[in-house]
Amino acid sequence: MSVVCFGELLIDFVPTEKGVTVGAAAQFIKAAGGAPANVAVALSRLNHAATFLGQVGDDPFGHFLAQTLQASGVNIEGLRFSQEALTALAFVELSDSADRSFIFYRKPSADMLMRPEDVAFDLIQGQRVFHFGSISLISEPGRSATLAAVEYARNNGLLISYDPNLRMNLWPDREAAHAGLMIGFDYAQVVKVSAEELEFLTGGSDAMALFRPQTLILAVTHGAEGAALHTREEAVSVPAFAVNAVDTTGAGDAFMAALISGVLEAGESLADQLAEIGRFACAAGAITATIKGAIPALPTRQQIYGFLSRAVGDQA
Ligand code: ADP
Repeated sequence: MSVVCFGELLIDFVPTEKGVTVGAAAQFIKAAGGAPANVAVALSRLNHAATFLGQVGDDPFGHFLAQTLQASGVNIEGLRFSQEALTALAFVELSDSADRSFIFYRKPSADMLMRPEDVAFDLIQGQRVFHFGSISLISEPGRSATLAAVEYARNNGLLISYDPNLRMNLWPDREAAHAGLMIGFDYAQVVKVSAEELEFLTGGSDAMALFRPQTLILAVTHGAEGAALHTREEAVSVPAFAVNAVDTTGAGDAFMAALISGVLEAGESLADQLAEIGRFACAAGAITATIKGAIPALPTRQQIYGFLSRAVGDQA
């Protein structure tokens, strides 16, 4: 079943050493990044037809990203190349616990300059799911392009999926971040938030506070502690799988893609399959945490099934 992912596509520069600041690091590895793009690749590995809509610079990094998506089986007919700005860069700090902080080069970057008229609406039509995040909502004209795309998707009956993916230092202030992140909940049927995002958005830990009339399922991720999945009637807690985490970059995106995939496959029996979908998504996240980088680490469906069959009774 086909999914279109909309948003930022950028280069992550990851230090070769853990536990050093970006300023102190001597060497960086170049990797494709951007949460919606990672989700597109992850869905492609799960055997879904995935299309990516976004904009990079008409520069060597932009073309490298286009090739990376294409090599992963993602349709890039709707990827634009800007003449006005360069591809976004993010330098990623790896702390000893393999958590991440970021420094972004986007003043502005090509993804931020995507306009509503740059959106390939014809590639949204006829798809099953539209997935997006909040980073493309931060500034104009990207915000208008995002809203035009998601509204088109909604009007054409696509299932809407949203990962707010808070990057506080990209927003002008906390109020703007809060208001911006909230927008997506009004559209989405499928949502993933981290526990920190839930706390920032609601001031607490009640996932139901983020439910809107059209919301079907909302997942709250807790990193190495696992996740909780909520529907309007039910909630399940899924413990994480114990793995040797070397780099959690992309774990949330792998989880998101597996969640979308699980929801599509469950169809009407979503409530009955909540725990199973949660295990599938947590396995995808756990596998991703064991390999450096995001895209190289995103698992195939077969890898997840293999991991789950070995992990029976082995959850942390
Ligand atoms: P995000 O904050 O982007 O939502 P998380 O870091 O919470 O993403 O990871 C998403 C999911 O991936 C978690 O819910 C968990 O199931 C799995 N995961 C992440 N980190 C680990 C880890 N260190 N060990 C095992 N599973 C992990």
